[in-house]
Amino acid sequence: MTEYAASAVAPSLSYELYPPRNDQAKSKTVDVISALAASAPDYVSVTYNGTPERRRASVELIGHLIEHTRLRPLAHLTCVGETRESLDRLVNHLVALGVRGVLALRGDKPEGAEHDAASAHGELPFARYLVELIRNVENRRSASLAAGRLAIGVAAYPTRHPESPTFRHDVEVLLAKERAGANFAITQIYFDPADYTNLVREARAAGVTIPIVPGIMPVNNERRLLRLCELSGLEPDEALRARLADASSDAERHRIGVGHAAELAQAAFDGGAPGLHLYTFNDARSPLDVVDALQLTGSGTADAREGADYGDADALS
Ligand code: FAD
Repeated sequence: MTEYAASAVAPSLSYELYPPRNDQAKSKTVDVISALAASAPDYVSVTYNGTPERRRASVELIGHLIEHTRLRPLAHLTCVGETRESLDRLVNHLVALGVRGVLALRGDKPEGAEHDAASAHGELPFARYLVELIRNVENRRSASLAAGRLAIGVAAYPTRHPESPTFRHDVEVLLAKERAGANFAITQIYFDPADYTNLVREARAAGVTIPIVPGIMPVNNERRLLRLCELSGLEPDEALRARLADASSDAERHRIGVGHAAELAQAAFDGGAPGLHLYTFNDARSPLDVVDALQLTGSGTADAREGADYGDADALS
């Protein structure tokens, strides 16, 4: 289980991927996976959202990682709009595929859904109930999971979640997720090193003991920065936005994005961060440059068995 969070010897290194949108993107994803594997990440997480096809594509990518690479997957899972039964089935399916780590999330409510509409929320209104559901599945499958428990990660927020009344409320929610059975947390993207330090300090003061891994994205263009902030309800960092806007070439924008991400990560490590989770946007170059700048190596296997087939995994139907 510790492979998914802090190790006693070195900080963990992990990357986030999203499932490819078409066949052409699939072969690019295989290349990205091969490139990322060279840094021996402790695990690679796969996002889960959108249409049923997109969700199937997530499960297919997980299957690919398990069958054709030596990388350890962390399957994101969301409970918004789902029934207990469908989630139970999906968790069982993932475990049967070989998944041993899940990032339990509520997910964003479907666009246009009323805040209190039961159909939009599904049967589990908050991520902590999904953590409990996963632990229940684990208990029922304990015989086949004899080698160890499932690792369950959850989201944490260095700046207030857009739906939360206060930042303190988010910290209490994180504590509730730990008490429900979460083993570690990964943070939302943030732009100011003090936001991560503050989150960890407040969380510890409130009684949170699980590792809180900083989630950092190298952002190398202004448009992406603004879109990212729009999607996650974050305030764009004005200084970073201005530097990207003023840059005169892609190479300069790349240096700015990588440099900013590396500074955030270094500050988090200086403050005792147990690992680094890099959001990749399915692009290997920027995250690998951040890893190089920090002279970091994961504790996983640097082997992606390049050129493996992709698409024959038993995706959930
Ligand atoms: P929760 O912890 O359930 O919190 C959701 C909101 O409800 C918060 O405002 C919280 O304060 C509030 N809340 C929780 N419990 C209570 C309570 N008991 N009473 C009152 N209020 C409460 N989204 C996807 O769709 N797919 C992904 O793959 C994905 N990956 C992500 C990965 C990371 C590392 C992070 C940080 C986020 C990711 N998200 C993803 C986004 C996430 O789903 C959204 O931020 C979502 O809005 C909240 O999810 P959560 O798990 O934090 O929910």
